[in-house]
Amino acid sequence: SYDILIVGAGHAGAQAAIALRQQKFDGTIGLMGNEKYAPYERPPLSKEYLAGDKPFERIMLRPESFWGERNIDLLTGCRVAKVDPVAKTVTLSTDDEVGYKKLIWATGGSPRMMDCPGSQARNIHAVRSRADVDKIMAALPSTEKVVVVGGGYIGLEAAAVLRKLGKTVTIVESLDRVLSRVAGETLSRFYEEEHRRQGVTVELGAMIEAFETNDDGMATGVKLADGRLLDADMVIVGIGIIPETGPLVAAGAAAGNGVDVDQTCRTSLNGVYAIGDCAAHSNRYADGAHIRLESVQNANDQAKVAALDIIGEECEYDAVPWFWSNQYDLKLQTVGLSTGHDDYIVRGDPADRSFSIVYLKDDKVIALDCVNATKDYVQGRKVVEGGLSLDKNQLADPEIPIKEVEH
Ligand code: FAD
Repeated sequence: SYDILIVGAGHAGAQAAIALRQQKFDGTIGLMGNEKYAPYERPPLSKEYLAGDKPFERIMLRPESFWGERNIDLLTGCRVAKVDPVAKTVTLSTDDEVGYKKLIWATGGSPRMMDCPGSQARNIHAVRSRADVDKIMAALPSTEKVVVVGGGYIGLEAAAVLRKLGKTVTIVESLDRVLSRVAGETLSRFYEEEHRRQGVTVELGAMIEAFETNDDGMATGVKLADGRLLDADMVIVGIGIIPETGPLVAAGAAAGNGVDVDQTCRTSLNGVYAIGDCAAHSNRYADGAHIRLESVQNANDQAKVAALDIIGEECEYDAVPWFWSNQYDLKLQTVGLSTGHDDYIVRGDPADRSFSIVYLKDDKVIALDCVNATKDYVQGRKVVEGGLSLDKNQLADPEIPIKEVEH
């Protein structure tokens, strides 16, 4: 039995354990996850790790010895199947039971996969865990043509790496632009153009009907609804995640798209917190809407809030969202949430490969997407946090630093 049991040893879970010890919490902590590896960073999985530029040791969140040194019991290879919030126990898939005083649920999500004829083929891969990416990397030497399903950040990043590795890459996106869920049209078109310029084929508004498979159970092609067949030696699917909330929901936790949590990351179950990708919270930067955020920022900041609440410090989740994406030589940094913007300003010329898009709502700056423009990102962050209205003409002039624009 543990004073604090953390289920899910990813970004949020690991950070919660770290934050508890930083706050001098001296009770027992169990950090339990179903992967067989010590906690590691997920962002490099579609970037430097996939590219072979960073070995696993360099993407671990802490050195292997850290957990023992901090008296944190790292329990790998354990899947929690059931939670009993009255008895305060979890049951593993092995039927073992572990007790807790407080539970932190930090299970992230499982990748959504395609569901159509042929979708079970062995060479159709997700990009969520080290195991997924190791399978992709092992197959790369015998792979020439890759179809990437989904034009979100993960799909685009994987496409960029595979292109750089010399593969023939096609992105298949069902909507009429890439990044449609997270960015405005200007940014979408910029990245679409960039991928095309790098030699990637981008199919927009393309619906997948089936995967053609051979006798080995391998996909050999992707059949589109318009009748075309795209050849493939490998398919990578990046179409989002399904939050891993089953055991909590079965235990009666309020949930919709993720487990519902309050501003201190408490779920509706007594003594149970939820943090990270799986936690639906009311976000100030989304006008208080109940949303899930899939980012390192959100995982880390919610972990800190839960840790502080556990040790009895007053604290509410109120952090400004930020995110990044690396594709080719383009470093995108975003701050705020652009969803719901009613106006935008482009600072600089996208053709220069360094520019920012400033998103406005009711004349207030609500978000920025900055491409190779770190200064705008850093200065824009304060503007987003302050919900400031800035002079639009000056904002459109990249020669005027954001911090000097009048408001
Ligand atoms: P996870 O890190 O997914 O950890 C959850 C853990 O819980 C997993 O190890 C899972 O196996 C385990 N688990 C699940 N169910 C159970 C169970 N029942 N019992 C035990 N264990 C369980 N964010 C950014 O900010 N910037 C980026 O550039 C970026 N790039 C990304 C690239 C990729 C390829 C991916 C996959 C994600 C990326 N993200 C990025 C998102 C970021 O990695 C996630 O938001 C973050 O990992 C969420 O942390 P988490 O702890 O909530 O979930």
